Amino acid sequence: MLLPCAVVLLLLLGCCAGAARAQEMEARITVLNVSTPRVRIEGRRADATRVWSFRNAYGSLLGLGERIENLSLKDEKGGEVAVTKLAAGEYEAAREAVRWSYEVRLDAPTTVTNSAYASWLVSGRGLLMLGDLLPLMMDEKLAGKHVTRVQLELPAGWSALSIETRLPDGNFEVADVTAAVFFIGTDLRERRERVGQMEFSVAASGTWAFSDQDVMSMAASILKDYAQRTGSAPRVRAMLMLSPFPRAVGAERWSAETRGGTVMLLSGQSPSKVAALAQLSSPLTHELFHLWVPNGLRLEGNYDWFYEGFTLYQALVAGVRLHFLTFQDYLNALARAFDAYQAASRQQQLSLLEASRRRWTGSPALVYQKGMLVAFLYDLSLRQASRGKRELDDVYRALFQQAGAARRDGNEVLLALLNGQEGMLDFTRRYVESASEIELSAAVAPLGLRVERIGARTTISADGKLTRQQRDLWRAFGYNEDAQRALRRVSS
Ligand SMILES: [Zn+2]
Repeated sequence: MLLPCAVVLLLLLGCCAGAARAQEMEARITVLNVSTPRVRIEGRRADATRVWSFRNAYGSLLGLGERIENLSLKDEKGGEVAVTKLAAGEYEAAREAVRWSYEVRLDAPTTVTNSAYASWLVSGRGLLMLGDLLPLMMDEKLAGKHVTRVQLELPAGWSALSIETRLPDGNFEVADVTAAVFFIGTDLRERRERVGQMEFSVAASGTWAFSDQDVMSMAASILKDYAQRTGSAPRVRAMLMLSPFPRAVGAERWSAETRGGTVMLLSGQSPSKVAALAQLSSPLTHELFHLWVPNGLRLEGNYDWFYEGFTLYQALVAGVRLHFLTFQDYLNALARAFDAYQAASRQQQLSLLEASRRRWTGSPALVYQKGMLVAFLYDLSLRQASRGKRELDDVYRALFQQAGAARRDGNEVLLALLNGQEGMLDFTRRYVESASEIELSAAVAPLGLRVERIGARTTISADGKLTRQQRDLWRAFGYNEDAQRALRRVSS
């Protein structure tokens, strides 16, 4: 059954097609079937073209273009245009065409933890990501300028939530197709709150051990913390979409992705409220930081070591500040990262710059885990070098002060900022620009931390006799002397 917008749609796609503004794309997405999930997409693009391409790969996910079926094309006057398939997601038209119709199979990704990276549809809910549903714009200049009007035709009883602008006629106006996501389903709920300068929504589906308000409170506390630490509000509107996985998974699994101002978080469903919220806090602190880095910046290039590795660290420290994690949780996370880094670097010694260039072919542990360890060492080295006056957050504040500038190379900007802190030039040379090994034990011993290897695992703990300066340093990371003393009493 169709939504009651069919008349408007006829006007939009048919009668008025010729009069549409030049830089405008139109798309109608119709859910055809939910049990063998399939949508039909019809529309009109701004640039007449013979080259028709659809996203085939996204991160480690391959073969998305194979889901496109029954593509037919028309020219401006409505005449059929023959089309030949060249490869998955790649087509060539006999002559320039502007209108299209095709179907997309929307089975959930086979590897369930990829479910936040591509559109899917199951009984009761789905995620429609325009990046893999609409034809790619080959002309980048045009891709940045045109507006896409999107009409959704959903089964009876289904609704849609998105941060895209909803027009009075019920259609959506989308400025950036690659970032646009629509959460659709039969049981969608939305809570909206102003968090600092941002209008923030939680869109939820499914049954959880916690309430939607619990999620809103947790997200709002994280967002406020980041706004304060970075001195910046990255956008006016953002939305968290919280969904169960499209396939059955263990309670401890999650998959998340942040596009533009939309954070998609898919999670297993733990029956315990405390465990479920604890599990949610880790991907949530990480993904919400992506609203700032990289999505609130105009940087380009492969600076993944910073926007993934350093983000892992910033999220970890926020987790401690907001009491989701203890000081020992913080140390344990760094120890796990060190083990993953060591295992990866036994295979390959790469600088962070090089590891980022090879993120999808090399070892992701070097981008994520080594990046996180380098952020940790940078933060601590800077605090020491400046006698507690400067910290990694100062680099972020400086980064956002210049964020409005034109597009620039991420690596260049970040190296300049990290090097710009007094006494840190050698550090970035060693750990970011070259492949120097991280000698964790030697690096943290002067800070009063002990690194030990027990079996195959590394453990990090605070020394029994910290100096006053060391205690002051670690208090900022949740170090609590009484708790440490109690622990020592129990274990001795
Ligand atoms: Zn990330």
